[in-house]
Amino acid sequence: MARYTEAVCKLCRREGQKLFLKGARCYTDKCALARRAYAPGQHGQGRKKTSEYGMQLRAKQLTRRYYGVLESQFRDYYEMATKREGKTGEQLLSILESRLDNVVYRLGWASSRAEARQLVVHGHFTVNGKRVDIPSFLVKVGDVVAIKEGSKSSAKFAAISETNASRPMPKWLEKDAEGNNGKVIALPAREDVDLEVDETLIVELYSK
Ligand code: SF4
Repeated sequence: MARYTEAVCKLCRREGQKLFLKGARCYTDKCALARRAYAPGQHGQGRKKTSEYGMQLRAKQLTRRYYGVLESQFRDYYEMATKREGKTGEQLLSILESRLDNVVYRLGWASSRAEARQLVVHGHFTVNGKRVDIPSFLVKVGDVVAIKEGSKSSAKFAAISETNASRPMPKWLEKDAEGNNGKVIALPAREDVDLEVDETLIVELYSK
């Protein structure tokens, strides 16, 4: 699948917010946004006037980039969200948060969503005992996501888990004592999503 491969730190600087795209580096003072907290390019530090449409577009791009989802798939998630009960914007975030690659990242088994996506594609995880290698797989309440038996002992996972041990665990997920299984105990709610975005702007954009 096509992916954005340019310098990812530029995306954070463009959005003015950490998107955590570079793994461990994002949590250090080497973070490009911490060093240069302005948009990239010649006019990055200039005064900006943003139109209503511009704000809606930025909100959509910010959310899409945070989860590493392509435009067409993001639009599909929006359509899915409109069919759910509740506020469409909040449902959209809940769907994005339920992606298997995000769950793997949230459980601390990857340093970034991009790394999580790669690990999922390489078949390192199971859902309810069955191998799932589709990053966009949506988990449900009661699902148990686990590191595959053959991958548990790998030094790579030990190193990743140690690096990410201090990251807070969202309350909708529960990890077992050994740290190899994660259970979905609730669907992610708006307060579980730490992205600073006004999701109603995305709804306004797509409702036009
Ligand atoms: Fe974004 Fe991480 Fe780069 Fe910082 S280090 S700008 S959070 S991708």
